[in-house]
Amino acid sequence: MRVRFWGTRGSIPVALTSADIRDKLALALVAASGRTFASYEEAHAFAHAELDPSITHTFGGHTPCVELEVPGDEYYVCDMGSGARPFGVHVLARQARRSAVVNVFMSHVHWDHIMGFPFFGPAYVPGTKIRIHGCHDVLEEAFRLQQREPCFPVDFSQLGADVEFVKLEPGRSHRVGALTVTPHLQLHSGDSFGYRFEHGGKSVIYSTDSEHKLENRQEAESFARFFQDADLVIFDAMYALADAISVKADWGHSSNIVGVELCQMARARHLMLFHHEPANNDATLEGLLREARRFEELTRGEQPLRVSSAYDGLEVDL
Ligand SMILES: [Zn+2]
Ligand SMILES: [Zn+2]
Repeated sequence: MRVRFWGTRGSIPVALTSADIRDKLALALVAASGRTFASYEEAHAFAHAELDPSITHTFGGHTPCVELEVPGDEYYVCDMGSGARPFGVHVLARQARRSAVVNVFMSHVHWDHIMGFPFFGPAYVPGTKIRIHGCHDVLEEAFRLQQREPCFPVDFSQLGADVEFVKLEPGRSHRVGALTVTPHLQLHSGDSFGYRFEHGGKSVIYSTDSEHKLENRQEAESFARFFQDADLVIFDAMYALADAISVKADWGHSSNIVGVELCQMARARHLMLFHHEPANNDATLEGLLREARRFEELTRGEQPLRVSSAYDGLEVDL
């Protein structure tokens, strides 16, 4: 199974500005001062090996959209944030005029998780089959609402694709195409649902927009069971722990440190920090990743937990 991240930012899309690019260039020039490079390749290798990731890399970008690729003809994707636009370009290029079948799994219908759908190219192509799965009663209403006048020029009813809404039941395993999927209720304004996906002996958890009260033992244990032995846990790490337990308590999101704790309880293998705060720049996000890795080292039991931070374009093979 391959997991491909098309959108990793929370709440609203962000882009690097010209000032950000100049800043990164200046930092790179300072780091390289005194060095000479005979070729582009040599300079490239230096940047890759010696520059700090906060200089050479950016987290992006788009709001949540995460694809799970498994052998077979159908597509599987979590949420339709603005990352759904490049995901749609990928689907159309790959299909080369053949009709696509796209299975969508919705955590919830807050705007950052549905805003990419009106820009999802395959939705305009007759013959495309889109099945939107979720546990909310308001699922269909939310998708129709955002394309209603005067907010959007193309009404939902004008889409070329055949769009079907499929209600899933939390706590129960469902078979959807090649995947087994189990939704799990999460604490968030209007409720959100995490998903456990299983295929070929591998498991991926998609758990975004979810606040945790770890002092509530029952809640922590229920999530540890949900995450149990997962190969990859995509986790809402919007805040730093200090913010999550003080000013931003009850805002419906979690932190890098809580992610480590829950994954350790669950003996999960790989934690992926996700749904980045739009106000955080690359250096701050690198800092949150370092902090989570350090905390993991200090609290490690028998099984190490790999910790990464998601960015647009990242692919993880399981
Ligand atoms: Zn969100
Ligand atoms: Zn939300």
